[in-house]
Order: sequence, then C-alpha cells, then structure tokens
Amino acid sequence: RDKTVRKPEWLKRTLPGGTEDSKYSKIKSRLKELKLSTVCEEAKCPNLGECWGGGDGHTATATIMIMGDTCTRGCKFCAVKTSKAPPPLDKDEPENVAKAISEWGLDYIVLTSVDRDDLEDQGAGHFAKTIKNLKEKVKGGGEGGFVSNQDKDKRILVEALTPDFRGEDRLIDTVALSGLDVFAHNVETVPELQTHARDPRANWDQSIHVLKRAKKTAKDVGGVDLITKTSIMLGLGETRTQVYEALKLLREAGVDVVTFGQYMRPTKRHLKVEEYVTPKAFDMYGKMAEDLGFLYVASGPMVRSSYRAGEFFLRNELR
Ligand code: SF4
Ligand code: SF4
Repeated sequence: RDKTVRKPEWLKRTLPGGTEDSKYSKIKSRLKELKLSTVCEEAKCPNLGECWGGGDGHTATATIMIMGDTCTRGCKFCAVKTSKAPPPLDKDEPENVAKAISEWGLDYIVLTSVDRDDLEDQGAGHFAKTIKNLKEKVKGGGEGGFVSNQDKDKRILVEALTPDFRGEDRLIDTVALSGLDVFAHNVETVPELQTHARDPRANWDQSIHVLKRAKKTAKDVGGVDLITKTSIMLGLGETRTQVYEALKLLREAGVDVVTFGQYMRPTKRHLKVEEYVTPKAFDMYGKMAEDLGFLYVASGPMVRSSYRAGEFFLRNELR
C-alpha cells in the first residue's frame, strides 16, 4: 500500500460476479490448454466481466498476450517479468490464438505482447502471422456462448497493441500490413516523464514515429486508412499542460484514438502513484482530447487501453 497517497473509494471496485461462471471457467481451461494467456486475467482487470461478456450495447472483447510472459525490457510501472533471454516463441501460437478465439465468440480481440529485443525481428513476423490467421479464419460471434453484437458473417476485429520495434520501419511495416483493424502503440506518459517511467530503450519520439509510420505504410502500400491508437497513464506526476501538449503532438502525428487510465502501482518496487486523478479530472482530460479532434476517447480511473475498444466501431460503423 502506498503510504503517501491513499487509494480513493472510486478505485475500490471488486471483481464483478459472473467471473466464476461455468462459461468463464470453460474458456479459462481452453486457454490454458492452448498455452495462451490473457491480460484480463493476469492483471486481474476489474473490467473482465463487462469486457468478456459484451452485451449492453458494446462488443465482447478480450486481450491476449502473445510471445510469452517474459519481457526483455523493464519499464518502471510494469509488473511483467524481465529477462535478457526469454524462452523461444511458441510456433503454434498464431494457430492456437485463432482456435481459441473462434470457439470463444468475441467481436473484438486485442493482441498485445511483451517486447522481444532478443529476436532478430523483435517478434514482428510472429505478431503479423497471428493477426493474419485471426483475420482469415475467425468470424465474429461464434459458438462460445457469450453475448455478441456482431453479425456472424463478419470477420472479427483485431487490434494490435505493439512494441516499438525500436522504431525500425521494416518491422513496423510488417505489422501495419498484416490486415489488422487498429494499430495501437502506447506512449504511456507525457514526453517529460518518459525517462522516469519507461525502459531506457523506449522514448517519446520513437513511439510517435511508430504510430506515424504504421498509418503511412498502411495508406501508401496497403491503400487502407488504418486507425491508430495510444494510451496515457495518469497519476505519475504529469501536469495538465504537459498532457495537453502531449495530446497536441499525438494529433499532429495523426493518432485517432486515445485512452486515459489511472496508473496503479503493481508492487513496492515500482514507481509510486503521485496522484489519484479524480473522475472529474478524467472527464476533463477526455473532453480536452475530444476538443483536439480525436475520433474516440476513453477516459476514467478504471479505463485500460483495451476497455470498450470495440465500441468505437459500433458507434462509427466503420466496418
Ligand atoms: Fe481485458 Fe482490457 Fe477488458 Fe481489462 S479492459 S478485461 S484487459 S479487454
Ligand atoms: Fe512491460 Fe511492455 Fe515495458 Fe515490457 S515493454 S516492461 S511488457 S510495459
């Protein structure tokens, strides 16, 4: 427990009932069988019931973490374990993700990964293969028994939340041309706090380059208007002006979607929470982003970058 700042009431939400339902356990055991893990479960995300269940006018979503559970980086806000040489990739994973998702019955899937600086292509090929498989083989809805808002003949929507690939164009392009619907890469915090929070190999300019390059390649080579998205954690000590300036830079880089959530300290060894941003301030930041012209904004203490990710599509009928 952080002694300097107490956790406010609005963050004391308990896990929703229903997470122990038989349909959830069925999915959990199938995921385990296929050696897949979800961020939703690993991070004990408070939105799990809502996201996996869908319904109530929004899409059923989950976030799958690919390329293993061990990262080559060590960001100071992140609970994922670190190693210079993580175990090799599971070559069946691209196939297994498609298998699990087609049985599951989701409308929208977010794929994310650890950073794999140890691999020649930093995992870009594996990422792209997983996306291609999903887009080719999986239709939305499905027989998983979950509420679904999606027309069963339509392909599942895929968002990739990618590493920075150290800004290497050929790697960014590999993912940008894989057939995904949304290219997400998180800048995590304002430019001023990059060094404070992120692994030394990451930085603001490089992340902006990734977002810009993905959009440009998708357009120039693929002929597609690819939606780009990023996320900012609040509560690390950023000022309102810094957030405003950061948002302006993101808009200049053509970023379409932004989300804001509260930074939560995973353990005492991680950065401390400087501030619990009030729900009212989250609304203010949301409004700030909307006024700057972002197509879709999600902002709230419990918002995670994948929270209600599919809603944007339902609302805008971009499909
Ligand atoms: Fe999973 Fe993201 Fe939803 Fe949390 S917000 S349950 S991580 S999809
Ligand atoms: Fe965590 Fe991503 Fe940083 Fe790795 S690169 S430590 S997974 S935030």
